[in-house]
Amino acid sequence: MKIILTVGHSILKTGSCTSADGRPFGGVLEYAYNKNIVNQAAEYLRSAGHTVDVLICPELKFSTSKEEKSYKLARVNSGGYDLAVELHLNASALHNARGCESLYKTEKGKKIAQQVQSRLAAVFRNRGIQKRDNLYMLNSTTPTTVMLETFFCDSSADCALAEKKDVALLIAEGIHGGTIICEPQEGSAPAPSGMLYRVQTGAFTVWKNAERMKTELQKKGFKDAFITTVDLGQLFYRVQVGAFSVKANAESMQKKLKKAGFDALILQA
Ligand SMILES: [Zn+2]
Repeated sequence: MKIILTVGHSILKTGSCTSADGRPFGGVLEYAYNKNIVNQAAEYLRSAGHTVDVLICPELKFSTSKEEKSYKLARVNSGGYDLAVELHLNASALHNARGCESLYKTEKGKKIAQQVQSRLAAVFRNRGIQKRDNLYMLNSTTPTTVMLETFFCDSSADCALAEKKDVALLIAEGIHGGTIICEPQEGSAPAPSGMLYRVQTGAFTVWKNAERMKTELQKKGFKDAFITTVDLGQLFYRVQVGAFSVKANAESMQKKLKKAGFDALILQA
């Protein structure tokens, strides 16, 4: 599948975050938590064969949360995606609720919501899937879309559970609809656990420019090109072709890219 993972909310010009904040209650900041796990979830999905872009709103750019909507919809609807999944965390008025919910609108969305929900519910209290028709990410997106309220950011008990589990893997396996096993390629020693060699052809502050390079790569046969968002004080949209646990594999991809006329460097992370 061609998937885009989006992180709900943003940090406004004023420095305030539009998401729920569970920190005063022994929890986490919703936006920061999801921003932190989204690239890992994307990596898991890529290792299961999906093409995955990651979209995070620029920070300190928007005046109101309404700008998040137009920013995300333009990109989600232009990328030819089969599926969009937006990451959220829940919060309750009395800060005493717990559990996971998955939201959908269409029948296709329902199927994915059910898959993810069953994975999340193995860890968090099962609040079930919900059909919603009052959310722009479900109403105005072209691809099938699911929104995840993975757990309650203002529940210290939920946050403690989340800390002990690989939530990114639960989400990825839910989307994939099965177990994801991350095995190193054969033939040489794998990188230290979790470390990957990423082959990058460009890094942009503007999504459109990243998208243009990705399209060019795909036209030239690098079908697995994808965009990932990283925060280096400022958000960068990196265009990459593959992430490898074996360095030699990354180097051979780098060679191919250079031959095709692209700049390619290998990043370790
Ligand atoms: Zn939210």
